Amino acid sequence: MKAKEWISDLRVYEPGKPIEEVARELGFDDIASIVKVASNENELGPSPMAIEAMQESIAQMHRYPDGGAFYLKRKLADKLDIDPEHLLFGCGSNELIVFLCHVFLGQGTNLVMGATAFAVYFLAAAMYQGEVVRVPMPEHTHDLDAMLAAITPATRLVVICNPNNPTGTMVSQAAIDRFVEQLPDHVVAVFDEAYIEVMPEDRKPDVLKYIRAGKENVIVLRTFSKAYGLAGLRIGYAIGHPELIGLLNKVRQPFNVSGMAQAAAMAALDDVAHLVETRAMVFEGLAFFERELPRLGITTVPSVANFILVKTGNGRAVFQALQKRKVIVRPMDPYGLPDHIRITIGTPEQNQTVLDALKEVMA
Ligand SMILES: *Cc1c(COP(=O)(O)O)cnc(C)c1O
Repeated sequence: MKAKEWISDLRVYEPGKPIEEVARELGFDDIASIVKVASNENELGPSPMAIEAMQESIAQMHRYPDGGAFYLKRKLADKLDIDPEHLLFGCGSNELIVFLCHVFLGQGTNLVMGATAFAVYFLAAAMYQGEVVRVPMPEHTHDLDAMLAAITPATRLVVICNPNNPTGTMVSQAAIDRFVEQLPDHVVAVFDEAYIEVMPEDRKPDVLKYIRAGKENVIVLRTFSKAYGLAGLRIGYAIGHPELIGLLNKVRQPFNVSGMAQAAAMAALDDVAHLVETRAMVFEGLAFFERELPRLGITTVPSVANFILVKTGNGRAVFQALQKRKVIVRPMDPYGLPDHIRITIGTPEQNQTVLDALKEVMA
C-alpha cells in the first residue's frame, strides 16, 4: 500500500467514549447509574415530538432520503428569515467543516483558528494538507483583532467558534462587526454557532444579518446535536451566500442526511417547549456550578454554553478519579489545558452528583 503521506500522518479524533464502553472497562453493570457529562449532549434527551416523528419515519426507511431536504430547508429558512438557497445540511455540522476544508484548503494554504478551539477544525484542515495557524486566546476567549492580524495571502478560512468549545466563552457583537468589516475578500469567515440556542437571549450575536445583506465570505454553522438533543442522528447545517453554499454542495454526497434525521429535525423545530426547558436547565446548572465550585477551590471560566470549563489541577487524574465514581467528564490535556476538565450541564440531580463526586476527589 502507498497511502498519501499526509493521510498516514493524520491524528485521529478522540471522542468521549460511549457509556457502554466505560461501563465495560470499569466493570459497572448498571449503565443507568453512570452520569456522562463529557460530550455536551442534552441530558433531557430528544424532544418527544422528534421521537414521534422518527417512529413515524421508520416504515419509509427502504427509501432514499430527499437529498435536497426540501421541506426542512423551507421550514428552517422561514424560521431564520433567510432563503432556502442560503442553507446546506450536513451529517452533523462536522461534515460541513470537512466540506469547507475540502473546497478551500490544499498545499500552501492555511486555516486560522483560536489556540483552544474545537479539534475538528485542525483535523479537517490536515486532511486536505492545509496548514493551521493557532492564535492565542487571552482569558480563554477568541481575540478577533489578533486573528485578523494572523491572516496572510495564504489564508483561506478563519474559524470563530462562538460560544467556543471547550472554553464556553463568547465574542461580542461589537468585536464581530469590527472583524467582518476588515475581513479580506480572499478569506471565508466561519462562525461555528453549535451552542447558540442555549445562549442568554440578550448576548446572542447576530451574524445572519451579514448573510441577509448578501455578504459572500461569511458562513454560519449550526447543529441539531446540542440544544435539540439529536446528536445521535447526525444533522447540522450551514447558512451562507448561495454561491458559497453551491461550492460546498459540490463536495456533498447526494444522500448525506438521512430521512429520519430530516423528519426529527422538522419536529424538533416545532417543539418550542423542549427548547425552553433545555435553556432553563442550562441556565440553572451554570449558576449552580458557578456558585458551588469556587467553594471547593475550583475556578470556573464564565460560560454561555451548555458546559463549563473548570480548573481543578491535574485534569487527567481528576477525570480518572471521577470515572471510578461513575461520573464521566472530559479531561482537557488534549487541548493544552492539563489543569482543566470540561463538565456538560445536566439535570439538577446529575449536577449534584457531579459536585458530590468532585468534593470527594478534591478532598
Ligand atoms: C458539537 C459541536 C459541533 C457539531 O457537531 P455535530 O454533531 O457534527 O453537528 C460543531 N462545532 C462545535 C464547536 C461543537 O462543539
